[in-house]
Amino acid sequence: MYTHTSDLLVIGAGLAGERVAVESALAGFNVVCLSIVPARRSHSSAAQGGMQAAIGNCAMGEGDNPDVHFMDTVKGSDWGCDQEVARMFADTAPIEMRRLAHWGVPWNRVVPGKSTYFKGGEKFEKFEKPEKEGLITARSFGGTAKWRTCYTSDGTGHAVMCTMDNKCAELGISVLDRKEAISLIHDGEKCMGAVVRCLRTGKLEVYLAKATAICTGGYGRLYTATTNAVICDGAGNAIAQETGVVPIGNPEAIQFHPTGIVPTDILVTEGCRGDGGTLLDVNEERFMHIYEPEKAELASRDVVARRMTEHMRAGHGVKSAYGEHLWLDIRHLGDKHISTKLREVDEICKNFLGVDARTQLIPVRPTQHYTMSGIRTDKTGAAYGLKGLYSAGESACWDMHGFNRLGGNSLAETVVAGGIIGKCIVEYLQGTETTYSTAVVNAEVRRQQRRIDDLIAGRLGKENVYKVRAEMQEALMTGCFVFRNEKDLLTCIETLQGIYERSGRIGLVSNGLGANHEVAAALKLRGQVRLALGIAAGALARKESRGSHNREDFPARDDKNWLNRTLAYWPENADMPMLKYEDATPHFEIPPGDRGYGGGTIIQADPETIAAKTIKR
Ligand SMILES: Cc1cc2nc3c(=O)[nH]c(=O)nc-3n(C[C@H](O)[C@H](O)[C@H](O)COP(=O)(O)OP(=O)(O)OC[C@H]3O[C@@H](n4cnc5c(N)ncnc54)[C@H](O)[C@@H]3O)c2cc1C
Repeated sequence: MYTHTSDLLVIGAGLAGERVAVESALAGFNVVCLSIVPARRSHSSAAQGGMQAAIGNCAMGEGDNPDVHFMDTVKGSDWGCDQEVARMFADTAPIEMRRLAHWGVPWNRVVPGKSTYFKGGEKFEKFEKPEKEGLITARSFGGTAKWRTCYTSDGTGHAVMCTMDNKCAELGISVLDRKEAISLIHDGEKCMGAVVRCLRTGKLEVYLAKATAICTGGYGRLYTATTNAVICDGAGNAIAQETGVVPIGNPEAIQFHPTGIVPTDILVTEGCRGDGGTLLDVNEERFMHIYEPEKAELASRDVVARRMTEHMRAGHGVKSAYGEHLWLDIRHLGDKHISTKLREVDEICKNFLGVDARTQLIPVRPTQHYTMSGIRTDKTGAAYGLKGLYSAGESACWDMHGFNRLGGNSLAETVVAGGIIGKCIVEYLQGTETTYSTAVVNAEVRRQQRRIDDLIAGRLGKENVYKVRAEMQEALMTGCFVFRNEKDLLTCIETLQGIYERSGRIGLVSNGLGANHEVAAALKLRGQVRLALGIAAGALARKESRGSHNREDFPARDDKNWLNRTLAYWPENADMPMLKYEDATPHFEIPPGDRGYGGGTIIQADPETIAAKTIKR
């Protein structure tokens, strides 16, 4: 058995994983990063619009500072986030953006002079000061008081990912692709590393480490309609939850993006609306300002996705062979803007829709996009339940997003959290020596090998993995999408329980030997259904509406009873997650209040409790 030992094992080589790895390598520790795909093809590369940081260089960002960014983030989260973490994030983001510039990210820069910009379809003028020439500039994104999203045209993720991967190469970090972690090695108290399946040979390998960081991204692929790539499948979250001691935080907190294109659900960035694009209905008329007079198309994503769904339900959607949709209009931004700042959008529309966005409307609808939920960690990134286990990036519930993350805050989180958590891991490694139990390691390897052998020998049953997975995805689409209610959630859970039972009876269609995708899919299916059950069970239990979690039968935000975070554990031999709760935040810097957009009522928390938890800075 191939066995590899290092100080730090990072599972996932996207932006978060590589940023964590860089910090440990800079401190002289031996790090290995694993990825299913070549690192630069990690999903971070697909991010288009940009990263939020209160740099305040551009005219429309003037007066911005981390306090304003913090406030936007807390409001965006619908007061569901950990405010201590959101504060660390907002304070550190500008430093991290400048560090990225130093490492080579070609940020778009301030060009002095007069220029025009669009808001809600109308043209305005702005003036960039000569003394700011060449500084990192920013664009507008939803739910923000200032223009704060630093960007490299609409290929931000690609540019930052390449830069980070170069940094890893410079530091001599081993980044190994086509390696899939399929289980954690642990004794119930301490994590020792992971059992990994080589996707080239199909053989098992062991990676032992003093610390293990799961940075495997989000799990959009639990839904049928998602902007996420096929590699965003929740495998990392599933192996953490499978330990029985590590919970998933806020499983019901799933984000739906307003502008997935129809029918492929590929994302066109929020930057389109940030740069002045508008949403139109079947009559080719704007409607967002009717629901959201102040922010219109630039309310936070949860609100825009909800309003779009309401508008379609009211009969204003465009009927098509691929289902109902609305339009995104960026025609007025003009050829120069589209060809320089929205190049990927331009290409996506041409290649996947045959649409020229300069002259034609883009068909869009809300689509699964982001998982605020994830492996629950404390503010140092340490996972609850297992010593030596960490998580960062979209796979984690650190938790700066609460029930809705702002556009541009996720890509920024990968590098900010990666840096902060990377430093905390260094401190942990500096004070840690460890021993590995061969009994524990061998038992886990045998368990995984038996699972594979059983599958290949056809001992488990005859269920088709792709069919069962598709049914899981459809169950979440039907029962746990933008709007939720008790009846649909109960049906969803019942369906998922049947699917969970069938997921233990998979039979392969292919011969199963070597680098077989069907085996990989079958090995992770059960864990995915557990995550799906967590989403539905968390949503059923939470009898309020907060951020992206909209209960039609409980439309109010209930700060009196639900200002908390769900923790979903999966005890051994369970067939449903066990839900526990903890306070959403250790203290309030901003006590709960109205977001200023999104409407709805709030059931107030007890004022004395809030006052006792409120701190002054
Ligand atoms: C289309 C799109 C556009 C976006 N645009 C923006 C934007 O403009 N601004 C913004 O803030 N956010 C954006 N986001 C969100 C943001 O890009 C992601 O949240 C972020 O990049 C996630 O980074 P990550 O490092 O956590 O994970 P990823 O970049 O997804 O990396 C995950 C890594 O884990 C590896 N992996 C997964 N499972 C395993 C396993 N079992 N074993 C080993 N390795 C594994 C993968 O191979 C990969 O290397 C966008 C998201 C999408 C889908």
